[in-house]
Amino acid sequence: MAEIIDGKQISLDIKDEIKDKVAWLKGKDIEVTLAVILVGNDPASTVYVKNKKLACEYTGIKSLSYELPEETTEEELLKLIDELNADKKVNGILVQLPLPKHIKEDAVIKRISPDKDVDGFHPESVGRLSIGERGFVSCTPAGIIQLLKRSKVDIDGAECVVVGRSNIVGKPMAMLLIRENGTVTVCHSRTKDLKEVTKRADILVVAIGKPEFIDASYVKEGAVVIDVGIHRKEGKKLCGDVNYASVEPVCSKITPVPGGVGPMTIAMLMYNCYEAALMQNGL
Ligand code: NDP
Repeated sequence: MAEIIDGKQISLDIKDEIKDKVAWLKGKDIEVTLAVILVGNDPASTVYVKNKKLACEYTGIKSLSYELPEETTEEELLKLIDELNADKKVNGILVQLPLPKHIKEDAVIKRISPDKDVDGFHPESVGRLSIGERGFVSCTPAGIIQLLKRSKVDIDGAECVVVGRSNIVGKPMAMLLIRENGTVTVCHSRTKDLKEVTKRADILVVAIGKPEFIDASYVKEGAVVIDVGIHRKEGKKLCGDVNYASVEPVCSKITPVPGGVGPMTIAMLMYNCYEAALMQNGL
């Protein structure tokens, strides 16, 4: 039977560590502060923002909330970002995505100061990651590295296959695995023989956005399988991009959905806020 990688527990451990670090900074008169901007009232985004605020409360990070109406213009949003960029009391800025269609996400991401880019989506953050400089790393892939390390998975020299090449998961994931000395292959919708590639993986990270797509026939015996996908099945049960029932018997370790990668994303956002406060204070 595969070992279940418990993202809920690992994320809690990380949040407890951050709580101590945030308290340590408070002792130096530094109050770690995150500004959270939500435009409109998309139900999923509203839940994500609420969970981010709860995590701030848990770790002792001050959260400033900006809940703007759906009809907010791009100009108005960019103006608010400029104000928050200039505000020395704000360490991190998070704009919840997706934004309403009339606002260009790209312009918004680029407007956030790279020093406050706690989501790690700014081109400068991506560039720093690719050349190995200190900077913010996209929270989901950063969380996956923590899941692997804290579950004693040796990435050094491992054959790693990432399925998916999105800017927020697949590409930064590949970069981080390279940084950890993995041998990395990235697959996508044009990959010719997906199974042939995924079956080589010691560590298989799946982020394709298709419910239960990966079954046992894609997985090498004893591989570690990380499932990034989140889908709500009929009857409201959550599932991932991996067919858990099929894959679990053949792999050595696996992340469940829910309770695997999901909780790590917010924990790493808290970490990035702490890191922002360190960097802005020359620590
Ligand atoms: P995207 O839709 O942006 O990217 C999906 C990627 O999968 C693309 O690169 C695409 O290839 C590739 N792909 C699609 N179909 C296939 C296929 N049949 N074979 C091989 N590759 C394929 O998704 P995201 O990266 O944003 O998200 C992936 C999943 O992770 C989603 O389920 C999402 O909900 C979830 N997610 C979970 C998070 C969490 O906190 N747990 C955070 C972020 C995402 P191509 O580029 O060629 O189109």
